Amino acid sequence: MGAERINKRSFEDLNADVVRVGLCTSCGTCVGVCATKAIEMNYALDEPLPRLVGKCTSCGACYDICPGKDVPLRDMDRFFFGRERDEEKDPVGIFKSCYRGWSTDPYVKATSSSGGVVTGLCNFALENDIVDAVIMAGWSKDEPARCRPIIATSPEEVAEAARSAMVIVPNNALLAEAVLREKHARVGVVGLPCHVHGLRKLQMKGQPKKLAASVKFVIGLFCASTYYWEGVRHLVREFSDIRDMDEVVRLDYRGGQWPGGMYAVTKDAKVHFIASKHDYTWHFLGAGTFKRDRCLMCTDFAAELADVSCGDIFQPVKPGDRRIVATVTRTDVGEDLVRKAQEAGYIQVESHDPMLIPTSGLGWESKKHAGMYRLIQRREFGWPTPDYQYEPKVVPLDRRLTFPS
Ligand SMILES: Cc1cc2nc3c(=O)[nH]c(=O)nc-3n(C[C@H](O)[C@H](O)[C@H](O)COP(=O)(O)OP(=O)(O)OC[C@H]3O[C@@H](n4cnc5c(N)ncnc54)[C@H](O)[C@@H]3O)c2cc1C
Ligand code: SF4
Ligand code: SF4
Repeated sequence: MGAERINKRSFEDLNADVVRVGLCTSCGTCVGVCATKAIEMNYALDEPLPRLVGKCTSCGACYDICPGKDVPLRDMDRFFFGRERDEEKDPVGIFKSCYRGWSTDPYVKATSSSGGVVTGLCNFALENDIVDAVIMAGWSKDEPARCRPIIATSPEEVAEAARSAMVIVPNNALLAEAVLREKHARVGVVGLPCHVHGLRKLQMKGQPKKLAASVKFVIGLFCASTYYWEGVRHLVREFSDIRDMDEVVRLDYRGGQWPGGMYAVTKDAKVHFIASKHDYTWHFLGAGTFKRDRCLMCTDFAAELADVSCGDIFQPVKPGDRRIVATVTRTDVGEDLVRKAQEAGYIQVESHDPMLIPTSGLGWESKKHAGMYRLIQRREFGWPTPDYQYEPKVVPLDRRLTFPS
């Protein structure tokens, strides 16, 4: 690891090879590892993209950890799990245990995305001296309808950030801020698979040393896609009386009963229902049309490199209760976190069949089938594609896809 050649590439190289050819996932890791604070996320086109705002010393740190252009899954599998995956036998990646779980705190369970396991794990880690802070997606103080990365140091901040936002939030951009400037020596990170890829590249490289050593756990969320902010704006405008997003003081993507839906609160304290997660409107306008382009080339659904990966369960596995979280532990760190959080009474988990994960919703299909196929097609034309080290291959599961009503 330490003997690896250190690339001396600059931000301009990163910009040319990743950002300007549409391979940037907007994970923020380049911003988060820049010691001189030379890079920031810019929202000129409403989507976060890194840009140079200071002096680049060409240290190569941002280029080396960037998961936009390449994610060496084969090396990562060996490094973190001790073996390479079998694409047919490991459809949700390599893992230790597969559970389903929920927060034991009724408030957390009721106000979470899927059952509050992520919130429960973060609260356990903060209150039991495992980490000093958790980097996660939260609400922007300046633009209340939008999400931004936050450094949470208390259960109150974790609770405020609960529930999924269907947009990309460059969580990893806060790494240096949390570790070097706020001096949190031990941090946890909650992120989507692309955030996890950046963090794992950082940990595998071991450089920048202090940042790599500070990441104590990574909780990954299953991810079918994130959507352009323009798509969110479109949904709000087309399906409510709200004409100006500046009127919105709170946007909730998973409000109400599970699976939840989009609600907006305006300055006059009025609550507007926009679309249920299971509505045609959500899927047609949100999920289909406005998927971010880089997400269409992403093949990781179940956060395959995280310590713990969490997602929804669309099958009714417990009569009368739909707020249950698929919880996959992949490393000793993840298994330990889940086990100890259960022992301490923060979450409750029980065994879950891992084969229920690929059949839960359309996420797995969109990555392992559609995403893989798209990569093969794009390569045919020589268009830019991320390099996942494994040749893209469609491996359909031997089963009939059915949806519960
Ligand atoms: C964009 C997105 C797409 C998803 N797609 C799927 C899917 O297709 N299938 C599926 O089964 N599950 C999907 N999930 C995961 C699911 O929505 C829940 O996040 C997961 O089940 C954990 O639920 P929970 O109740 O334990 O989380 P909670 O306790 O509610 O905690 C949610 C955590 O997620 C973090 N978060 C919220 N939005 C983001 C974001 N945009 N980026 C990074 N972190 C964020 C919050 O900071 C919080 O820490 C997706 C999540 C997101 C954010
Ligand atoms: S590290 Fe992340 S945000 Fe930065 S260029 Fe790469 S993919 Fe984009
Ligand atoms: S689909 Fe992939 S690239 Fe897009 S937000 Fe999800 S993990 Fe990141």
